[in-house]
Amino acid sequence: MPHDPAAFRLDGNALAGPLAPVFALDPTTALRVCPACRMQATVGELHVYGPEPGLTARCPGCSQLALRAVQQPGHLWLQLGTGQGAFRFTLPAAGG
Ligand SMILES: [Zn+2]
Repeated sequence: MPHDPAAFRLDGNALAGPLAPVFALDPTTALRVCPACRMQATVGELHVYGPEPGLTARCPGCSQLALRAVQQPGHLWLQLGTGQGAFRFTLPAAGG
């Protein structure tokens, strides 16, 4: 019987349950281990530069890019680490 990886593939909606408690927590308490210098720091301990064109957070030990957050009307773009690409979150409407 041939192995078919597509038979085990789910769409991103499968992440809704596992990620829901993560995004409901205070993100500043999340611990990051820097892949460059191995320093452990919470998001709250990162060095942040900005505000334009967005907030850039860097490792306090070696300044490697940790994340970028760019807010636009109605959306938040989030890039994690030094990889390319970003996630766009739709923000709740103001006042409601
Ligand atoms: Zn580092």
